[in-house]
Amino acid sequence: MTSLVDRLGRAVHCLQFADGLNPAQWAVLRYLGRANRYSRTPTAISDYLGTTRGTMSQTIKALEAKGMIGRATNGRDRRAVLLELTGEGNAALENDPLHCVASVAGALGDELDDASRFLDRVVDCLQAKSGGLDYGVCTDCTHFCRNSFAPDVHRCGLTGDPLSVADSTKICVNYSEPAAP
Ligand code: SF4
Repeated sequence: MTSLVDRLGRAVHCLQFADGLNPAQWAVLRYLGRANRYSRTPTAISDYLGTTRGTMSQTIKALEAKGMIGRATNGRDRRAVLLELTGEGNAALENDPLHCVASVAGALGDELDDASRFLDRVVDCLQAKSGGLDYGVCTDCTHFCRNSFAPDVHRCGLTGDPLSVADSTKICVNYSEPAAP
């Protein structure tokens, strides 16, 4: 089993030297495609991916030089850097080299759920060891205030900000898991 996971990791790593990008750069593009407005800072990205601030700074500079990501103003804290995908970054993600993994996984049919649960546990374990964090989405968060009457205007109980349906499906640095019953 260990050998299989190792081979899978190596194969996935090699696949990501594609379209002039490396695996670390693809990981940042994927993260920015999934992260909400509170979570697109260099610190949040390096915490999630379990890399040092220095390594992340180099990766971000390289992606900016390639025109894949840009900087936005942070409404709450004008000194904080907020990153976002550019049109080029979004277009690159449409041809993510890991899409072929999703095609193979789709062929698993009913076995996919079991395989996903197993891989989830492996990733959780590896992230815990490397110091990476597993951010969750609003709909599973203890701060999420669902609006049953106007489903497109939910609210974050932590910040007080409105959350659209699209916002609610993004991963968040402030996510807080509900206590076990
Ligand atoms: S509800 Fe939770 S996950 Fe959503 S924005 Fe607020 S803190 Fe983040």
